[in-house]
Amino acid sequence: MQKIGITTTVPVEVLIAASYQAIDLNNVLVSDPDPARLITIAERTGFPLNCCSWIKGIYGVCLDRGIQDVICVTSGDCSNTVMLMETLKLKGLNAMPFAYPDRPDKEQMNYTLQKLAAMLGTTLKAAEKVRKELQPVRDLALKLDEMTWKDNKVSGWENHLWLVSASDFNGDKGKYEEDLQKLIDVCQARKPYPEGEIRLAYIGVPAVYAKEIYPFIEKQGARVVFNEVQRQFAMPEPGESLDEQYTNYTYPYSIQERIRDIKAQLTQRHIAGVIHYVQAFCHRGIGDVVFRDAITLPILTLEGNADFFLNTHVKTRIEAFLDMIQRRNIIRAERKPVSTPGFPLSRE
Ligand code: SF4
Repeated sequence: MQKIGITTTVPVEVLIAASYQAIDLNNVLVSDPDPARLITIAERTGFPLNCCSWIKGIYGVCLDRGIQDVICVTSGDCSNTVMLMETLKLKGLNAMPFAYPDRPDKEQMNYTLQKLAAMLGTTLKAAEKVRKELQPVRDLALKLDEMTWKDNKVSGWENHLWLVSASDFNGDKGKYEEDLQKLIDVCQARKPYPEGEIRLAYIGVPAVYAKEIYPFIEKQGARVVFNEVQRQFAMPEPGESLDEQYTNYTYPYSIQERIRDIKAQLTQRHIAGVIHYVQAFCHRGIGDVVFRDAITLPILTLEGNADFFLNTHVKTRIEAFLDMIQRRNIIRAERKPVSTPGFPLSRE
């Protein structure tokens, strides 16, 4: 199968129908033993220092791994991708644009999918067939998500890793399904996390220091039980067709679509506090203003750049945030004792 890089989640069903093996370039970047090396490739080419590390890293991955075909999402993700695409073309790569509609509209999405299918030499009918084949795999990812917040048997990192990988199923849906089923079996046999833990939500793009932040939070007696964007990658609202599925996918559209999804999940999952991760030099960081206006729970905004580890400054801020939530919950519990099994400290 010919590899095709993707700069973020795209309708992967169309790519598979066209006999491509989709490779999420972000996942390749963070899995590399030395991601800083890949960013340096872009900086040596002339990418500005104040350009987002994901963009630079994706460029580095394409060149380093010899990926020839790349779908660049130019609308609904990142405006920097437009220039990334130009630089990839300059290097002789076949960089193809894909633009989500500017609003969640089924008809527009249908047109967009038809165009993508035609560009890759397949049909929407063939992609619909792939959608049905992928549904059990997506269901499994969503089962892991439910086991995270409902059964309290899955770590924040495991949740992050398997949901974020639903963008390309690690390039092999069969192996993804098999390995995920094994993890689910292991998790089912586990004891649940303790009842008194602080339940957190993580919103925003995946963190460059994801590998370290989730275990660190858990060492402090808290756990991320909702990973917003990562859950969206698993398509929690699939609907009855591809156009419905990608219309219900919130990430490419207005921040208000995301807020509706986030607020519903904060309530359902009994969240006590929210971590909003923003990437340095990313336009999405401005959205922090809107999130803070819409979400009434305590919010900690963390920024990351090219640091793939948690520095002391970030660790101290997380500790202080959790300490504040703990005290807040104790005061609330003293004022109005609440005893709901499974969610004792985080209930509003
Ligand atoms: S973090 Fe922001 S700037 Fe970087 S690739 Fe994602 S959307 Fe673009």
